[in-house]
Amino acid sequence: MADVESRSWIGGEWAAQAGEIVEVHDPSEVSREVGLLHLSEAAAASEAVEAARYASAAWDRQGSPARAEALSAMAAALERDREAVAALASQEMGKPITEMRGEVARGVQILRFYAAEGVRAVGEVIPHSQTQVLQYTTRRPLGVVGIITPWNFPVAIPLWKIAPALLCGNTVVWKPAESASLTAARLAQLAAASGLPAGVLNLVVGRGSEVGQALVEAAPLDGLSFTGSTATGMRVAAAAAARNIKYQVEMGGKNAAVVLNDADVDLAVSAVVSGAFRSAGQKCTATSRIIVQDGVYGAFCDRLRQAMRAVRLGPALHPDTYVGPLASEAQFEKVSRYAHQAARATVVAQAPVEGVDLGAGYFVPPTVVTDVAPGDPLVQEEIFGPLAAILRCASFDEAVALCNQTVYGLSAAVFTRDLSQGLKFLDAADAGMVRVNQETAGVEYAAPFGGLKQSGSHSREQGTAALDFYSHTKTCAVYYGP
Ligand code: ADP
Repeated sequence: MADVESRSWIGGEWAAQAGEIVEVHDPSEVSREVGLLHLSEAAAASEAVEAARYASAAWDRQGSPARAEALSAMAAALERDREAVAALASQEMGKPITEMRGEVARGVQILRFYAAEGVRAVGEVIPHSQTQVLQYTTRRPLGVVGIITPWNFPVAIPLWKIAPALLCGNTVVWKPAESASLTAARLAQLAAASGLPAGVLNLVVGRGSEVGQALVEAAPLDGLSFTGSTATGMRVAAAAAARNIKYQVEMGGKNAAVVLNDADVDLAVSAVVSGAFRSAGQKCTATSRIIVQDGVYGAFCDRLRQAMRAVRLGPALHPDTYVGPLASEAQFEKVSRYAHQAARATVVAQAPVEGVDLGAGYFVPPTVVTDVAPGDPLVQEEIFGPLAAILRCASFDEAVALCNQTVYGLSAAVFTRDLSQGLKFLDAADAGMVRVNQETAGVEYAAPFGGLKQSGSHSREQGTAALDFYSHTKTCAVYYGP
């Protein structure tokens, strides 16, 4: 298979029969074609689950130390190919190359983290009410797990699901987003080249509404992990619950950074710029609401204006680009509608656009607005683009109330020099990840990741929390008397 093609990879073989073929264009320069997707139809979901089922028993029997070796081999293969993977992803979905290199390095770390988990203790020994009975818990794999991923972290999100799933002894059917399927095929190639047995990891490339939906609603899965929009995630959760499949869904966010009067303004501004505009705001943990207390409002806006002058918008492969294009035409159209609404508010700061050929790609200038009501769509809806809104507040209590005035609950941050206020905020903010003097975005692979309210299904990913999801606990009792 050519490097710049993507097709399903089932049972260790690339799908021979091409269905619909779709051209992939570089979002930085839309006239440039970067690859081809061969979209599979709905039937591929069941075929892939069958292949995964066939591989399941042998993979389980290998034991976790051997599975850990397989993850280490995948880590080495990804590390060797890191530059090519980063460059491909940058051209496929527009993330700036400097950020993409960091994401691939994160992918290697994730694989190594779960490889290390393969030789750790699992379960506990629990005293039994009868003597001469050994009672203990152990972990067993779920079986065949479906993994549905978005395009915004084309390497890290798939790996933070696939690695713990495989380590726990599951086999996997992975459905990547259409806008990240070239990168997905490259990762599948690396897994194959590193010696992963056939059928242990299967890739189905196709439309979410066809192959994705078939996986969720009909294929005989034992577990399902999804990251994407809230609308799709809620449907996935309902379908999985109706079939009583263990599931987790990670969905949207509308994350607030609260800047209190005593904040270190420089620190707050740099965290807000990075949190709001890295990945062009296309992170579920992106800062999209900035809640600023009256006493620091003027200084914060001045400093933000200054900082935004240095934000470089440009093509993803340019080494100086800080904000790249949006990932796709659909993204561009959606975010542009919000940008028109934003233009009617008061613009506080905008990144310079001189020297950028805005028409060549899906570029939307990073912009911060103010004078918007707390109920405005710009403040309430997940935009998933480089737009953020400032809300003013008079007090700490008002800041917390505004922060929590959202249907989402993924991440929240406060900027203050008063640790007592910081700790009170960590208690009061309705979010799964809460921070003091740190940006809302940026995750640690060893720590639990997930949100409250409509941001997720209340379980956690990453760290050892993922091992809880991708396995079930068995309570074992052995009588060895008299
Ligand atoms: P976005 O709007 O950002 O593309 P989605 O939630 O639609 O986010 O997509 C996230 C992932 O879910 C992608 O892999 C997509 O193909 C898949 N998907 C979309 N619709 C469905 C569906 N009805 N059933 C299962 N998966 C779907």
